[in-house]
Formats: sequence, structure tokens, C-alpha cells
Amino acid sequence: MILFGVFSAFDIRFDSVRLRYTLSINVLVDLMLKSMLKKISRALSTSTLLFMITVYLTQAGWHRALTPSFFGMQEIAPRIYTDSPERSGQITEAIKKAEYNSLQFFTEISARPTYIICLKSNCEEIFGRMPLGLTLGYHRVLISPKGFTPSVLNHERIHVDLHALMGFQDLYRQRFPAWFDEGLSEFLSGRHCSFQRHNEADLARVLRADTFRDWNAMVADRAYGRHYGAACELVSRIAQATGIDGLRRIVLTVRDKDDFMRQMPSIVRR
Ligand SMILES: [Zn+2]
Repeated sequence: MILFGVFSAFDIRFDSVRLRYTLSINVLVDLMLKSMLKKISRALSTSTLLFMITVYLTQAGWHRALTPSFFGMQEIAPRIYTDSPERSGQITEAIKKAEYNSLQFFTEISARPTYIICLKSNCEEIFGRMPLGLTLGYHRVLISPKGFTPSVLNHERIHVDLHALMGFQDLYRQRFPAWFDEGLSEFLSGRHCSFQRHNEADLARVLRADTFRDWNAMVADRAYGRHYGAACELVSRIAQATGIDGLRRIVLTVRDKDDFMRQMPSIVRR
């Protein structure tokens, strides 16, 4: 949650032209957060601040996605960073395809995340333990060497565009449950839901993962394919019942703050 806020504060400072922010309640929250951060930094002693900066610069972790150029990533195109600039053409093309794939569903794209494509073997030394891909808010997409595939890029980009429909208040109560967030990303990624076997009990269990805390607790057993496959299957069943247009309508209606479960067809009602 803190990371999301810090990313928001960072982006508004360095990218004031983002219309989405200026029109959103996020702008107020970001400003409050910035003034809070200012107060905190005033309250901290110089030595504590130096300590925090040293920790930021020396400790491997996802927080480094905030300033990728500090950690050896080169900007090869606006908002695209990599440790492998020799593959620029391939990287920009892959991102363009993922954006196009997402556009087919969302029909318009407003989020402009920063992509960090880490393709060398020392990525974990820089960013810590990484999944194949990771989306932070709708601000950063971090891709690991094994995750540089069309399906992972598609998956992360769908997350970005779904997250862009949410507001700061979703940090407290997600309007889209975690299983739907993951299931939609997987369903629209181009990878088939049955890429790993799952059963009806998995579907029922996945359906209980409302928050990302629930989701992370569930995937702690590392049976990733089973959980992601089951979430994908749930969204696939919704799409079978409503059609893709119906699925899109559900997403847009829930964006406008309607209750998620009320919009769901009976196949996933609890
Ligand atoms: Zn995901």
C-alpha cells in the first residue's frame, strides 16, 4: 500500500501532464501524501535520512523499479527501461503487441506505465526475488528474464489497464477481487486456462481470494498454475455466460462503483 502511494507521489511530481491524475481523486490524495512525506522528512534527522537513502540504494528489491536508471537500466524508448539495450527492437515490439492486445478488451488505454524489462541473469541481485512479471499499481511493470514472453507481457498489461480503473480507495476495499484481477489477466493473456490442471475444488477456493493478501497466501504453496488456471477458468465461464462485450460491461459497471458480486452471473455467485 505504501509502495502504491509512493509510486503515485513520484509520478505526479515527474509527470504532471497525466490528465487522468488531474481529473481523479488520486490527485488530492497524492498531494496529501506528498505533504505528509515532506513533514516526515522534516521530522527525520539527517543521519536517519542518509540511512534510509543508503538502504534504498543498497538493498535489492522491487522498490528499485521507482528509479530504474539508478540501477543499471537504460531507457531505450520513453518509459521503457532494460538491461539489454541490444534487444531494443524486440522489446519495444513486444510491448506494443501487449498494449494492442489489452486495447482489444478495454477499447481505450489511458495508463502509461514504465516498463522495466530485466533480461540478464543478475536481475534478482538488483530487484530481489522476482515473479515472471509484476505490476505495481498502474505505474510500473517489471519483467524478469523468464517472463519475457507474449503471454506474461499481455497478462501484466491487462493488470495495468484494470488497475487504472480503480482509485486510491481500492487500497482499502478492492472493487475487483484478486481472483478476478488475476483471472481476467490470465484469460486475456492468450494462454489457455487449462495450462495447468485444476478442479472444481480449486475454483471454489480461488473464489475466496478477495484481497491480494488472500491471493498471496493462497499461492504461497507455489502451485501457481493451478491457482491462476482456476481464476482464468472462472473468468472464462463468466465470458461464456455474458460474451466478451458482457464481460467488458461488467468491468465498466463495477468501475463506476457498482457492487462486483451483484454484476456477476450466477455461475460465480457465492
Ligand atoms: Zn497477475
